[in-house]
Amino acid sequence: MIIEYPEYYERFRCIGGSCPDTCCAGWEVDIDDESGDYYRSVTGDFGKRLNEHICECDGERYFPLTKSNRCPFLNDKNLCDIYINLGEESLCQTCTEYPRYFMDIGNYEQVDMSLSCMELARIFYTETEHINYIRSENDVCGDELSQDDQATLIEVLALRNQCISVMQDNDGSFTEKFKTVRDLVSEAQGLTSEEGDTARPYLTEDYSELIVLLESMDSINDTWTEKLNYYKKVSVDSKALSRLGDFFRDTDGSLDTWMSKTAVYFIFRYFIDTLIDGDIEKELCLIHRSLRLILFMLFAEWLIKGTVQVTDIIYVSHLYSKQVEHDDGNVSVLKDTI
Ligand code: SF4
Repeated sequence: MIIEYPEYYERFRCIGGSCPDTCCAGWEVDIDDESGDYYRSVTGDFGKRLNEHICECDGERYFPLTKSNRCPFLNDKNLCDIYINLGEESLCQTCTEYPRYFMDIGNYEQVDMSLSCMELARIFYTETEHINYIRSENDVCGDELSQDDQATLIEVLALRNQCISVMQDNDGSFTEKFKTVRDLVSEAQGLTSEEGDTARPYLTEDYSELIVLLESMDSINDTWTEKLNYYKKVSVDSKALSRLGDFFRDTDGSLDTWMSKTAVYFIFRYFIDTLIDGDIEKELCLIHRSLRLILFMLFAEWLIKGTVQVTDIIYVSHLYSKQVEHDDGNVSVLKDTI
């Protein structure tokens, strides 16, 4: 199998108890079968505690959150009691893999890490000037693909790489480069640039329409609910919106760099979903909306502080990713091009 992953994958280390927004809070932890069977077999005081916190529903096992929205095994030092009592190898698949994700199509595996982890986001925005992708190969055989799917996979990966190079090019603004990405997708669809953009009504959505999409999702936590209420107010406040020009002038070079890099993240992450969704337009729609929403969230932070730093793009990208990217239903809302 061919495996491809960004170089920062090898540099990432979980910072555990020092993490500013631990992944062990806010999400219920799904337990894979093997780990669940093992947890059920653990005896003694810790085994009793472990078993008391396992819930089963429709054959699926998970750890429900405590009243304070934390994993029941996250201790007051923000360390994991399962890790401490049973060792790293006892962590379930969810905890072992996060923030990594794996996407297998035929004999190709795409591996990446989610910006929802603030430490990964920090590495991504502050220690990765150019994102290099590494290809390796192992002896594992993936599922056999039909000839058509194999051809689509090759075409999509080539287009993805081309779009990533455009976004990583130092020439041109973020807006110009993303327009080129849209044109490349149109060309792959057999359309002219103009025909492609005319067939994309989501390009004309304003910020308030985008915020409505976010409002249709269940909120992951109180921080998100509070922020979303604020974003909603800004999105319909014409006085605040009239300051967008100032924001763009004030953040000029940095904004372009951050947004181009964020586009690379989304293109690498989602273009491959074309093989599942059957239409690259859905991926383009999701990427376009995500970039505009992240940009708008950054603008909303700028309105409060009068400035934005790299820590702000780390924060908003992480917040957005945490709310949207880990729920297939939320991702579908943004892929729906109608
Ligand atoms: S969010 Fe990232 S750095 Fe923080 S605890 Fe989770 S994996 Fe570790």
